[in-house]
Amino acid sequence: VIRADFAVRHAGQLCTMVARGDDPLGRIPDGALAASGGQVVWVGPDRDVERIIRLDGDLVDAGGRCVLPGLVDPHTHPVFAGSRADEFAERLSGITYAAQQGGERGIRRTVRATREASEDELLQLAVARAHRFLAHGTTTIEAKSGYGLDQEQERRQLRVLRRLAEQSPLRVVPTLLAGHVVPDGVGRADYVQMVIDEMLPALKPLAAYCDVWCDPPAFTAAETRAMLARARELGYGLRLHAAQVAPGEGPSIAAAMKAASADHLEYATAEQVAALAVAGTVAVLCPGANFTVPSSPRPPIEAFRAHGFNVALASDCNPGTSNSESLTFAMTLACVEWGVTPAEALVAATVNSARSLGLDGQAGVLRPGASADLCVFDVGAPEDIPYHVGVNRAVLTITAGRTWMAP
Ligand SMILES: [Zn+2]
Repeated sequence: VIRADFAVRHAGQLCTMVARGDDPLGRIPDGALAASGGQVVWVGPDRDVERIIRLDGDLVDAGGRCVLPGLVDPHTHPVFAGSRADEFAERLSGITYAAQQGGERGIRRTVRATREASEDELLQLAVARAHRFLAHGTTTIEAKSGYGLDQEQERRQLRVLRRLAEQSPLRVVPTLLAGHVVPDGVGRADYVQMVIDEMLPALKPLAAYCDVWCDPPAFTAAETRAMLARARELGYGLRLHAAQVAPGEGPSIAAAMKAASADHLEYATAEQVAALAVAGTVAVLCPGANFTVPSSPRPPIEAFRAHGFNVALASDCNPGTSNSESLTFAMTLACVEWGVTPAEALVAATVNSARSLGLDGQAGVLRPGASADLCVFDVGAPEDIPYHVGVNRAVLTITAGRTWMAP
């Protein structure tokens, strides 16, 4: 007999995401799950529950709906103030995203609005976004700073992420994105040196990962290498925004430095995709950003498939290109725009994204030892989730064995 303080019964399909036979989703028909102290202690067919589980605690009846691990969103920018809705409209009339990155628009505009907001205002905005992530079935996010761009402002953003993690049941993995763009009023070389000498060492206690955008509007290959090399010395895991707006060395740098992830990758070459696979670097694709930047090409999906599909999907929640907390909508976009299969999208939004965050076995799977983070979706089969276009079918989100209630 296994003691449990939480259980789910009657999942029409319980998706463990531990591949079994020819099913990458490892599903159990009429499945059940038990947890204790926030961790999964048992999964199996519902008919075995009464014989095996002694439950003293909450019971959720899924009523034949599908149960999946809480989704893991491996690329978000949830700490910002202000809106860029007018830029969204401008792009529809043909102005390019790259052209919006100078002057009064683009990332620097969000930097200004974010610097002007108080820390409590930023926290309030981030908490509201956390609620939307949870409401859409996401229980873990990677979350970046990057709208501060000096030491005190980046520290403020990372502090907001720490307070968010304390206040919200959402698991938050913090990333320092001092290498987002060069801020106004500072020379390029001076800024890169300041990141290397001051920001990276000072902010290490607040961030697990360091991220740099290696693309023409942001940083060169040499600048990217210099910042990431220092970050690696200091013990940060590495992530890159790479080859989003132009071909370049970003994906090769990610592979050579064995980064945890290389993100966007619309312009990655077949050789770069192969190198990422060999390095074990997860390709984090961001369909939302691709979708709202009309000139974006499709990332090389077939090349990823040829190399084991080491791909994760992200909402890329941010005010410029992807104002969305819905990872299920990102899955739909990956399917209809890029030809990713529903099963691939589900693996990409759970197991693979957890791997990119060093959370293998803890998040994105339902098996003993994993965190009891799960979501009940009102669908007949998990493949139906991306099929429901832009409609939220998540009906109940559970983190660490506790039911999350919408405020
Ligand atoms: Zn991003």
